[in-house]
Amino acid sequence: MTGPGRTIVHLDLDAFYASVEQLDDPSLRGRPVIVGGPSNRGVVCAASYEARRFGVRSAMPTSQARRLCPDGVFLHPRFGRYGELSDRVFGLYRRYTPLVEPLSLDEAFLDVTASRALHGDGPSIAARIKREVRAETGLVVSAGVAEVKLAAKIATDLGKPDGLVVVPPGGVAAFLAPLPVGRLWGVGGVTEATLRRLGVVTIGDLVRLPETAVSAALGADRARGLRALGRGEDEREVVPDEAARSVGGEETFETDLVGETALARALLLQAGRVGRRLRAAGLRGRIVTLKVKYADFTLVTRRVTLEGPTDDDRLIYRTARDLLARIEAGRPVRLAGVTVSGFEEEDGAEAGQLDLFAARAEAGSAPAPASEARRRALQAALDKLADKYGERTVAPADLADQGEAERWPVHRRRDRE
Ligand SMILES: [Mg+2]
Repeated sequence: MTGPGRTIVHLDLDAFYASVEQLDDPSLRGRPVIVGGPSNRGVVCAASYEARRFGVRSAMPTSQARRLCPDGVFLHPRFGRYGELSDRVFGLYRRYTPLVEPLSLDEAFLDVTASRALHGDGPSIAARIKREVRAETGLVVSAGVAEVKLAAKIATDLGKPDGLVVVPPGGVAAFLAPLPVGRLWGVGGVTEATLRRLGVVTIGDLVRLPETAVSAALGADRARGLRALGRGEDEREVVPDEAARSVGGEETFETDLVGETALARALLLQAGRVGRRLRAAGLRGRIVTLKVKYADFTLVTRRVTLEGPTDDDRLIYRTARDLLARIEAGRPVRLAGVTVSGFEEEDGAEAGQLDLFAARAEAGSAPAPASEARRRALQAALDKLADKYGERTVAPADLADQGEAERWPVHRRRDRE
């Protein structure tokens, strides 16, 4: 669906990496936190609002940030942890629409046009998402609502932090008119300077200027495109990112692993991690892929398609082990990874689960729906514990029965590197 009548919500977590650090370590709350590259040659990835008061900004050299804010808390990024929370937040978004287009770990477009009948209008959905993100993760997300992507994104930026800015239907052109022309996508410093020479400062100026004058300076195609954008004509759709349609991870081992037992142990941890991320994101997939890189850098991947979609650690682990049996396990391995993809479409996990129940009821076969529901409830409780105390604190009971859990490393809360 394109054009007027759509409802696009843009969401952007406030000072995401820095906020995660403050969330995980309460002693950092209210303090200037700067997440950045490990050396003085690195750059700032994120700065808390306390640090921004000192003039610290993203992409600034860390050395400059240290001069501006010598008492700041400088931390290395923990992308694994940011990824976990990002999955959880994006999973929450998918409760409202399958049309979620991630732009980065902390930013996404949602097309909620078809969700309005069920969940209320755009502003109500955005307000609910803001509340739920805060309640379920402790993070703050800013939102913009508009008929087109460009206006929704700008609305979010204008409202930060903790904003909710709504551009009413039919109001996009009026919303854009007073803003600097540099806000338009595709208008960088050079174009801005060119336009300024024509007396164009705001988006409204650009729209009012005769098209021939803009064409003479920028060429006919660009002039037409930019002026259309300035009038609020932005036909771009929200496209769910296919690359994001897999959940997995890989691990390079500190020392090469040799033998199936050692590898199986690594796969067990990875399967647990992948299952947890799938459940947090509300996804279930039917393709399990195992990737193994040997010490000599030869890469082997094996994949299998399951009968039905899953988010179950045990099934992911057993499938990965079956795949492991199909490769040479005797050679030293430097890297291994487990990925789940092939997610069920649209209706999501709930519909799939109901179908499964129905099929079983018809066939009169075990396991009964009640036990499947119990497994999922137990899993949800375990996930909460793992979120709170770290992923290695809990193991599903039947893995413990197999003696696998005893070999799990002693739990240590993952500290900042
Ligand atoms: Mg952000």
